[in-house]
Formats: sequence, C-alpha cells, structure tokens
Amino acid sequence: MVSIRNDLNAMCPECGALVTLDALQQRECVKCGKKAFDREVCENGHFVCDECRRRAASKAIYETCIKSDSKNPIDLALSVMKDKTIRMHDLKHHTLVASCLITAYKNSGGDIDLDAALRDADKRGAWFPGGICGLAGTCGAAASTGIFYSIITKTTPHSEATWSDTNMIVADTLTKIASINGPRCCKRNTFISILNATDYTEKKLGIKMEVPEKIECLFSNRNDECIKEKCPFYKG
Ligand SMILES: [Zn+2]
Ligand SMILES: [Zn+2]
Repeated sequence: MVSIRNDLNAMCPECGALVTLDALQQRECVKCGKKAFDREVCENGHFVCDECRRRAASKAIYETCIKSDSKNPIDLALSVMKDKTIRMHDLKHHTLVASCLITAYKNSGGDIDLDAALRDADKRGAWFPGGICGLAGTCGAAASTGIFYSIITKTTPHSEATWSDTNMIVADTLTKIASINGPRCCKRNTFISILNATDYTEKKLGIKMEVPEKIECLFSNRNDECIKEKCPFYKG
C-alpha cells in the first residue's frame, strides 16, 4: 500500500489559522456538522471535512475567476493559491490551472461562455486524484492544460481537428515538468503548466495571454519538499 504523506502547513478554510495534527478522535465539521475520525484541527479548534474543504476551494476558484478581468493566468493562479481553502499541495490545482487559463483566455479575446467553462473545468479537474504525478506519471496540473484546451476548442474523444493538439499540450507540459524532476510541487508545476499553455495557445490559436516577466514563488516556506535552487521559480 502506498501512503501519501499528509500535507500540513495548511490554513483552516473556516478562519485561515494554521491547521495542526492532534489526537485521532471523532470531530464535527464546522461547516456541515458531519462527524468523522480525523486528526486535523486548526489553532482555533475548527475541523472542516474533506468534502466541505473541496467545495470551499471550488467556490474560491470560481469566484476569483468569474469576477476577474485579468489577461494574466499566473496572476490569477497566485491569487487563488493564496486563498485559505487551497493547500500547498492540493488536488484543486487540477482545477485551478484550467480555470485561470480559461479566464485569461476569455479576457484576452477568446470566445467562450466563461460561467459554463469554469463549471466544466471544476467537474473535469476532479477526475484526477491527489498524488497522481507520482502514482501514475501524470501530473494533474499538466492534465489541467488539456482540460483547458479541450474546453476552449470543444474537443471530444470523437474530434479530429483538435484531438491531437489537446493531447500534445499535455505531453509538452509533462515533458517540461518531468525534466525538472521531483518531488511533487503543485506550485512549480502550476507555473510550468500555465506558461506552456499560454505559449501553445498563442501559437495554435493566435490568442495572446499575458504572463509576468519573472515568476517568484511565494510558497517555498510552506513546502517541506521544496527543491530550492533547482526550481526556476525559487526566490532564495
Ligand atoms: Zn479555523
Ligand atoms: Zn463538512
């Protein structure tokens, strides 16, 4: 049985305080009232169940994107990743990469129904479980560039014109992610995925999104596995 280390350095989705590990005991979710055996509790005593945390994260991603007029998917991703509902390593990156790209694409002149596209990205992002990078060799942030490209080009398994490009954007992104090596970092892989997807979209569809000249990671101190100088975004 493969175990994935629980990621702390997380914020409480209810109040933003640090979440810590306490004794395993029955706890009541402050959002839905459901009871579960868990060790995670915030410094203010809140326990939030996984389902409520994921729902809150989906809501934070949707609300940031739907209100935004930004053409810059990296800026958008940074504001979402700073939200208290998103953990350092979190399967919600599988939704947020596509959502930030879709929003910046729309704001850069792409012709899509943003509300429907964001809801679709949330649904498809949930297909990829946490840890899939190391467990199946497919980083979920890279897969999320495929979700983005599929949604904006309306690609399906039956498509011909855009089927190849939808797979190629993921292959391209994965190659870039893999060539840096692990361990996992949802932030590093989000930046690489978005940068690659913006290049690819400009090349294939002629829509140019904005990206910052330099990306400096704000999350290294929350990541016990940070590869530091080996990461192109490490601030030092
Ligand atoms: Zn709390
Ligand atoms: Zn709950």
